[in-house]
Amino acid sequence: MERGRFAPTPSGLLHMGSLVAALASFLDARRHGGEWLVRIEDVDTIRARRVYESEILRELERHGLFWDGSVVRQSERTEFYIQALAQLEVEHLLYPCFCSRQNLKSRGCKENAQGELIYPGFCRPEASVLAFGRPASNNAACRFLIRNDDYEFVDLLAGAQSGHVLQEAGDLVLRRADGCFTYHLAVVVDDFLQGVTRVVRGSDILPLTGRHILLQRALGYPTPVYAHIPLVLEKSGEKLSKSTSARALAETSPLENLTQALARLGVKINIRDFSRPDEVLTYALGQYALT
Ligand SMILES: [Zn+2]
Repeated sequence: MERGRFAPTPSGLLHMGSLVAALASFLDARRHGGEWLVRIEDVDTIRARRVYESEILRELERHGLFWDGSVVRQSERTEFYIQALAQLEVEHLLYPCFCSRQNLKSRGCKENAQGELIYPGFCRPEASVLAFGRPASNNAACRFLIRNDDYEFVDLLAGAQSGHVLQEAGDLVLRRADGCFTYHLAVVVDDFLQGVTRVVRGSDILPLTGRHILLQRALGYPTPVYAHIPLVLEKSGEKLSKSTSARALAETSPLENLTQALARLGVKINIRDFSRPDEVLTYALGQYALT
């Protein structure tokens, strides 16, 4: 059984960019006769707001994008993230890192294209120390010790991808010093435990996917099929922000929004041929195919 998912962060209302991602993932899963899940990515509890979560779900329903099963929240799944960390710990693939961002900057660490500091492994333990394991530390970030950092995958839309995570980012933080689990850990664990086989999402995550593949490898998880859809940009070329465009989406009829979103996916429809969102989606199912 194929399974896709839409995984919004509830830090703002649904906007055209996230509608396009939801729609592409929905159509792809349904076209494969698969299930489509919705997962709330509120692992970053500082930015997540419950009010946005209900608004996002309401907007999905208004556009006829009904999901299978119940919606899960990352904030309620910490036991699974702890288990995954324990598994990596047994393999000696975790170590505590005491470096602050300020600290890394003052030691001359460079930023990558995503504006993250590339971590050169200052706290990386020697192999001899690792063999005895490292005690968990409360005030330290928890990093994933990457041994083989090269990855290769074929994205259904972006084509062949390859790279080296140590050059792109360094050993990944999986749990921050404040105790929050990071997006990288949560998304990999959740996609595996939820049986997600097809990940269709915005191309802003494309540069991070190699990290997810290395984590999957270390945890013994299969790698799902990936398709990263081009981001919807403002007329100025800026990435669409949740605040500026979300209101427009909520104030416009779902038929108009779906027409626009489908156009971004290369599917042209005549809005006058349809009276309900589900009719549009049924038609679009015959028109949109990633593979
Ligand atoms: Zn460190």
